[in-house]
Amino acid sequence: MRLTGEALKNVFKRPFTQKYPKVKPIIPEGLRGRVEHDKNKCIYCGMCDKYCPSGAIEVEVGRAWRYDMGRCLFCSQCEEVCKYMVRKNAITMVMDFEHAERKKSRLITIHKKPKPEK
Ligand code: SF4
Ligand code: SF4
Repeated sequence: MRLTGEALKNVFKRPFTQKYPKVKPIIPEGLRGRVEHDKNKCIYCGMCDKYCPSGAIEVEVGRAWRYDMGRCLFCSQCEEVCKYMVRKNAITMVMDFEHAERKKSRLITIHKKPKPEK
């Protein structure tokens, strides 16, 4: 009986669910959605690779930077290491949260160190 009463009460309430993706949700400020890497600010030192707890970042020191979003924990440790230890600010956690892909390979970003201009 209590259950029926509860069910009837909820018939007249607005649903708790959202009509995503038709209606975009309100994203809370500071959401750690994805790692964005600036290949021009990066010095390819490998510190973010060293401190990444899940092995999502691999750096070929002095040459290339690789990020696998499929392994990322979105903890922002790489961003902090780059910002406060290396002082380069080459990594930013951006608020983009829509990561669904059909192919795993599309979750991987590879940046090669740009060649110096002559
Ligand atoms: S810590 Fe920063 S500067 Fe060093 S490799 Fe990572 S992103 Fe580049
Ligand atoms: S957010 Fe965390 S898990 Fe993801 S790449 Fe950075 S350090 Fe690694």
